[in-house]
Amino acid sequence: MKAKIAVLAGDGVGREVVPEAVKVLKAVAERHGHAFDFVSADVGGQAIDKIGVPLPQETLTLAKQSDAVLLGAVGGPKWEGLDYSLRPERALLGLREALGLYANLRPAKLYMALADASTLKKEVIEGIDILVVRELIGGIYFGKPKGIEKIGGVERGVNTEVYTTDEIKRIAKVAFEAARKRRRKVTSVDKANVLESSELWRRVVTELQKGYPDVELNHMYVDNCAMQLVRNPKQFDVLLCNNMFGDILSDEAAMLTGSIGMLPSASIGAQVGLYEPIHGSAPDIAGKGVANPIATIASAAMLLSYSFQLEKEGAAIETAIVRTLDLGYRTKDIHSAGTRLVGTGEMTDAIIRNL
Ligand code: ATP
Ligand code: MG
Repeated sequence: MKAKIAVLAGDGVGREVVPEAVKVLKAVAERHGHAFDFVSADVGGQAIDKIGVPLPQETLTLAKQSDAVLLGAVGGPKWEGLDYSLRPERALLGLREALGLYANLRPAKLYMALADASTLKKEVIEGIDILVVRELIGGIYFGKPKGIEKIGGVERGVNTEVYTTDEIKRIAKVAFEAARKRRRKVTSVDKANVLESSELWRRVVTELQKGYPDVELNHMYVDNCAMQLVRNPKQFDVLLCNNMFGDILSDEAAMLTGSIGMLPSASIGAQVGLYEPIHGSAPDIAGKGVANPIATIASAAMLLSYSFQLEKEGAAIETAIVRTLDLGYRTKDIHSAGTRLVGTGEMTDAIIRNL
């Protein structure tokens, strides 16, 4: 197939790991006869320095006109003092909004090769393979009224959780569809014993499941889910969450599987999907050639599967990552005794060799 991929490396380690993922995509394209056109643009702090805004119009236009976006990370100490509207992170919100990215998908999978090095109990974490499907552009982060107001000399901070039936349906659909390609089990997370928005959430998800008789659905209160994730994470396949619960639980699930440098994410909506590692710009290690490229390479694999329906190619990248880890290659963040310490580029080269 022919496709255009917008490449937004951004700041910090983003500038190191994104080119590595592009290398892998090029290798896949060559082997499978695809023509990917990579077009780079500025985003985040780097765009602030060059153009004065975190999300230049040109970048936004490119993203909209592409078939998928590969993003690195934005931000860093250099831009921390800036006004909120000028912060690098604003670029993420801008992209999510403009591209209508309502679904955030975060797989948390334990690579067996890393199980021994984990500080967590092996019998608990072994075999973890969870996909958190988080609603991304609704809920309490965006509901109105919101703000800090002063009434009769007393300040109050206000946020409102709002979900419409359609918003719940479209995110639940993503979860059910994803479950069909996995172990066919959706756990919908809510707080329906307390929140009205959750009561509606549960009702709509239950109704929608009737269209997916092959997928098992269960409901779980968020507090119980947070506990179950630590107690017995293997029970979960797809976790369907609203914006805030998904924010929290996806970080919790990530920590079960080890390094932040390993985990990818996909944000999808009506048209263009955006793919990025879950980690940030990691200013503490940026520019040293030691960053783990796997999270971004795995994000590129998701790009192929979700945006281009090239599931075989996406799976090939994932298999190559597993093989490379099995061979003992480790970047600094996942290095342990008896394994082979490599830099960002060497890790990528090994993955390409194992494709
Ligand atoms: P943000 O606010 O953007 O989320 P953060 O400081 O909270 O940034 P990261 O930038 O992800 O989070 O960094 C957290 C820690 O994880 C740092 O110690 C960083 O060095 C480490 N880290 C992040 N990404 C990687 C990577 N790709 N390889 C190795 N270590 C990483
Ligand atoms: Mg952070």
